[in-house]
Amino acid sequence: MAGAFWCVVEDDRQGLPKKVMSEVIGEASRLSGGQTEAVWITDKASEAGLKQLGEWGATKVWLLENAAFAPYRGEVWVPVLAELVAKESPRAIFGPVTSRQREMIPRLAAKLGVGLSADSVAFAMEGDTLVATRPVYAGKLLSKVGWAKTPWIATLRPNVFRPADVQEGKTAQVERPSVTIPPAAMKFAERREEVSTGLPELTEAETVISGGRGMKGPENYVILEELGRVIGAAVGASRAAVDAGWRPHRFQIGQTGRTISPKLYLGFGVSGAIQHLAGMRTSKVIVAINKDPEAPIFKIADYGIVGDLFEVVPELTKEFKKLLEK
Ligand SMILES: Cc1cc2nc3c(=O)[nH]c(=O)nc-3n(C[C@H](O)[C@H](O)[C@H](O)COP(=O)(O)OP(=O)(O)OC[C@H]3O[C@@H](n4cnc5c(N)ncnc54)[C@H](O)[C@@H]3O)c2cc1C
Repeated sequence: MAGAFWCVVEDDRQGLPKKVMSEVIGEASRLSGGQTEAVWITDKASEAGLKQLGEWGATKVWLLENAAFAPYRGEVWVPVLAELVAKESPRAIFGPVTSRQREMIPRLAAKLGVGLSADSVAFAMEGDTLVATRPVYAGKLLSKVGWAKTPWIATLRPNVFRPADVQEGKTAQVERPSVTIPPAAMKFAERREEVSTGLPELTEAETVISGGRGMKGPENYVILEELGRVIGAAVGASRAAVDAGWRPHRFQIGQTGRTISPKLYLGFGVSGAIQHLAGMRTSKVIVAINKDPEAPIFKIADYGIVGDLFEVVPELTKEFKKLLEK
């Protein structure tokens, strides 16, 4: 069946695609048999970014680079993308679930009058047609959906799909199509950057520390952040901690929070409820620290410490400091 799989690039606003694009391009390549192209709408691309997209497997990059594309506004991006779709007829359009794309991709589907599988967690080609799996009813059920017509449009949940194998030196052909850029309906007023904790971002980090109800209060997260700074880890939380108002919702790991798949997950005072595991069980190495030897998290942990986290965390921080300063 003709037509490429398009991957709409999410970048770091500094000219580099985000790590999640490796998962989107990887999955699109597996499904399309290598007919994968990236569409990059940005005010600032970079050679390094284009190289990265090629090495992840994009054969072509449709580069739409213009100052008018920043900051993101759906009413500017969607018609531009729709115009390109009308000209090039891709078979599928994939984007990661990010705050921009979870807004833009459904608007694109509505404009094109085609279906959307939002927050997809799996795909399969059944004959000549794509079938997507997505959670429904807050993750209690998984539903399989198909499309009545192309392009098949979907958003992909981060940290679920296997990243692309890096093909060093492979380059993508870069096309700069001319498109009509509509005027923005919204005026940009002010951008406020969040005060950075200096720690990596939760869904991008290779090491994640999670604090649960066992942390006893918001003031105690400083000990996890200190450990995080020593080992270069992001600090997340369970829903119990978020519901108690100890951490903002964007730090929640689990079924109704973020899905993470770091190389190392360290859970402190987290019992290991099924909904928490749903967001971290694919972590490569799981370490649990809990004072209750019967806590369910020990069933999936590779390593465990039965003990009081308020004694264990400072000890670990001290030992890691010694080790890493050597
Ligand atoms: C529809 C639905 C969606 C949900 N989504 C999510 C989700 O996205 N993410 C999520 O996390 N949960 C989610 N939950 C909630 C989930 O069921 C659990 O209630 C929650 O994960 C429990 O958080 P916790 O492990 O921090 O708390 P608890 O289950 O109360 O566990 C606290 C643990 O800390 C240990 N502890 C206490 N003090 C110490 C100490 N000093 N040292 C060491 N250990 C100590 C205790 O032994 C205990 O095991 C969801 C629930 C529902 C119904």
